[in-house]
Amino acid sequence: MAVVNAADKNPTVLRQLRYGNVERVLQVLRRQGPSSRADVATATGLSRTTLSGIVGQLLADGVVTEEPAGPPSGRGRPVHRLTLNPRSAQAIGIEVGRERITVAIANAAHEVTAFAGTHHAQRSGAREQAGAALELLRELAAREGIDLAGLGGVGIGTPGPGDTTGGPGDATGGPEDTTRGPADTTGATSPAAGVPRHRQTVADAVAEALDVPVLADNNTRLAALGEAIWGAARGAGDALHLTLSYGIGGGLVAGGLLFRGAQGAAGELGHISVDVDGPRCWCGGHGCLEQVAAVPALLRAAGRRSWGRFTQALAAGGETERAAVERAALAVGRALAAASSTANPRRIVLGGEVAELGPVFLGPVEDAFRRYTATRVQHGVELVPAALGERSGALGALALVFHESPLLAGYATAAAAAPEESAGEAATHAS
Ligand SMILES: [Zn+2]
Repeated sequence: MAVVNAADKNPTVLRQLRYGNVERVLQVLRRQGPSSRADVATATGLSRTTLSGIVGQLLADGVVTEEPAGPPSGRGRPVHRLTLNPRSAQAIGIEVGRERITVAIANAAHEVTAFAGTHHAQRSGAREQAGAALELLRELAAREGIDLAGLGGVGIGTPGPGDTTGGPGDATGGPEDTTRGPADTTGATSPAAGVPRHRQTVADAVAEALDVPVLADNNTRLAALGEAIWGAARGAGDALHLTLSYGIGGGLVAGGLLFRGAQGAAGELGHISVDVDGPRCWCGGHGCLEQVAAVPALLRAAGRRSWGRFTQALAAGGETERAAVERAALAVGRALAAASSTANPRRIVLGGEVAELGPVFLGPVEDAFRRYTATRVQHGVELVPAALGERSGALGALALVFHESPLLAGYATAAAAAPEESAGEAATHAS
């Protein structure tokens, strides 16, 4: 698309400037609904020439349409109004998770208009996974009649630490964290950039194929952002998120924004030490929560080989399984108590396979949490199960584009008006 031109001499700065003006125009249309060019010029303060160029491009890309508002009044020409085109994609969210690829599409009105997910072979490489994500995206767009010509940005979530900002000819490194989790089975960390090589490869492949800026981050943190905007932590503003799966990931949302910390590792609740004599963890710490409460730890404790067998045995009243779950719940409750004393969240969201065990796990987590948390901190905090399921990562990746990209300056205010219906609509498109 013309707004983002990789051939520009100083692409990043020009993109930001131009994108800023384009975004101001779109913001007016989001807030005011269909508007005349004169109304948009007044609201944005843009010159006629600048506005004319922007509107011309938005019309060419199909992002907006322009129609007569009604029959001409008096002798003048009929007033035309600019309207956001609901069938034009402005942002894409992609999660390339441990087993699944999910894609969400949103239009310039910030409505999530389509969602799809598929399994991928765990052993496929980053390039193959990026290809599968792009194929899924194109199929989805074709099926739903969505035009990708006006696309402004893509957010991507993958396992592993750090974040990534990139685009056509604009790949920059993230924080200097060179650790890598066991969940990151498909790629190694690039010590030079400090970003998991797998994530960088996926981001580069998508940026190249779609010719738009790409932002990428840890998928669990994006899930935290998705839940904060559209899911179980909606309206909470300050929330902790914990995904208990084959690893344990977390996210901290403060004032509605994802909190990253100095090295992009904020919210790594899975690596709070809960056992001073515990085994060394891959992260470099000892006795981490992940070593006690993630799926592999529960399987080890109960001598089971698969999660299916574990849950069956638990449902059948297995004492060993129940003891393992209660031990994990105690550790999770204590870790959440410690984290809550630091972050003072309004809501704590628990997702992933272990949380999906339901009351048998969540009950003892809540008991332990209340026992180990200061009265003042626990007053008014709720523990709730995650609400978006497999959609959370892709929705969070969308939010990353809307909410957090420096390329989309001005979105912060608009994101407060994130579509109420979108999560529900996304559900209807789930496949
Ligand atoms: Zn650890």
